Amino acid sequence: MITLNGIGASPGIVVGKAALIRDREIELTHEKIMPEETAQEIERFDAAITKAKEEIKVIRDQAEQNIGSEEAAVFTAHLMILDDPELVQGVVSKIKNELISAENAVNEVVKNYIEMLSALDDEYIKARVADIEDIGQRLLLLLTGTEKTNVELDKETILIAKDLSPSDTAQLNADLILAFATQSGSRSSHTAILARCLGIPAAVGLGEKLLEVVTEGDIIIVDGNDGVVIVDPDQTVLKDYQRKIEMEEKEKLRLTEYKHKSATTADGLRIKIMGNIGAVNEADAVLKNGGEGSGLFRTEFLYMENEESLPSEEQQYLSYKAVAEKMNGKEVVIRTLDIGGDKELASLNLACEENPFLGYRAIRICLDREDIFKPQLRAILRASVFGDLKVMFPMIAGLEELRKALYFLNEAKQELKNEEIPFKHDIEVGIMIEVPSAALMADTLAKEVDFFSIGTNDLVQYTLAADRNNEKVSAAYNHYHPAVLKLIKIVADAAHNNGIWVGMCGEASGDELLLPLWVSFRFDELSMSSVSILKAKEIISLWSAKEAELLSEKVLTADTATEVKQLLASASKDNS
Ligand code: PEP
Ligand code: MG
Repeated sequence: MITLNGIGASPGIVVGKAALIRDREIELTHEKIMPEETAQEIERFDAAITKAKEEIKVIRDQAEQNIGSEEAAVFTAHLMILDDPELVQGVVSKIKNELISAENAVNEVVKNYIEMLSALDDEYIKARVADIEDIGQRLLLLLTGTEKTNVELDKETILIAKDLSPSDTAQLNADLILAFATQSGSRSSHTAILARCLGIPAAVGLGEKLLEVVTEGDIIIVDGNDGVVIVDPDQTVLKDYQRKIEMEEKEKLRLTEYKHKSATTADGLRIKIMGNIGAVNEADAVLKNGGEGSGLFRTEFLYMENEESLPSEEQQYLSYKAVAEKMNGKEVVIRTLDIGGDKELASLNLACEENPFLGYRAIRICLDREDIFKPQLRAILRASVFGDLKVMFPMIAGLEELRKALYFLNEAKQELKNEEIPFKHDIEVGIMIEVPSAALMADTLAKEVDFFSIGTNDLVQYTLAADRNNEKVSAAYNHYHPAVLKLIKIVADAAHNNGIWVGMCGEASGDELLLPLWVSFRFDELSMSSVSILKAKEIISLWSAKEAELLSEKVLTADTATEVKQLLASASKDNS
């Protein structure tokens, strides 16, 4: 029995047989070419690029259908990399100047790229090395005519690999994968993202030993909660884990009782529990998990699907109409384009900025680009007659911005009226509160909108000056911080004092410890990852609003995030 420790990337425990995916062997000969052969090699390289693009487009469509827009966007990034002049020119000049074959030139350029990125001290960029490796591998396979390793599975297995490339993962039959375990990877690697999307347990970053000790068909345990893999477990350990699995299954089954129940406290306070989505088909997961609608539709993923052009008004209208119809009368809050920051949009060609989160982002871009904003607003309005759609502006920092956004919305309404196109005239309009200035001005802003939704992912980073994507400051980025909680309370109170409803759609909304606090703040709705919905419904129903208020009084006097967390943990009613 061998135990390996890594990172828990997707929760759940599984026992099964291992299926190994080994790196493909590509043989390169290192002979020099003749000067007159360079043109032919460049032609072979161009042909490989064209073929690689065709393959990637097919995979992107598969990913879009099987997984969702977020994963499909990875392949749009691959296409962009294949157009990168540094890569293309680098290969061509190596062929010309060093008189080497196209495959040797690709191999060297890709290796240099990877070395350069791996040296950077940035987890996100390191995770992107997998994309470059994937592209390099694809080009080399095409240039050398090497057969691909078959990653098709014919029975349920646990996938063991160095790291799965985005193309591998998008093509796998998810129904046959019990779990993933990979040698490299981080929580933000594609294997991890995919596993969480599909609800498959995964442990990553297990180290080189993984591929040394596991052989095809070995019995292994993957514990995606703690990032542990046990190879060839002895009977006692196996029994122990089987008991844990049984408990997890019971827990999942038990929670399904909340699917059709509302989240209502013992003394009758009802909070709507919703799911966040980034693509139309993600609405299915929300409904399956008992979500009462979607409090956040991140529309930017629709924009990321095509690297050449922005989605037309018509394309957007069809997506918003489809989601409204899927939700069948349940509320869907459509957030207008929130691009910039860490989300790039190829078709917009945004310049690199030193502080992208503090820069040209979200509503700032939309207010500057009527040609982008107006079609989106028209599309949302047109789709509003097919269900309960609401419109929400991201990253509002103050009243002037809000008024400008409302001005464009009214213009869009006027245009549709003139064109005699139907729309819901009194569609509800809200703003995300994710900038501290907006939280402090909530009382003023509340007078001009129908609702607020607190985006804690950004509110935390802007309040605590801690980049939400920077591993090095992850300790400083903490949603239990008293300053964050105070701002949230200001917003919730301002909303209610002005007679509007308030929700939360950042990650903190589904935090099991914080739920009683949200009860005490009387949130009207909480929108979270689909997988958190059932548990949130249960926890809320274990509390009374009165008890939650008593706890809240204590928590709001705490001076540190640690103290807040301790108070919440010791009051937790969750004994599952
Ligand atoms: C947030 O900031 O909390 C939010 C929900 O928006 P996003 O994560 O898309 O920035
Ligand atoms: Mg945000």
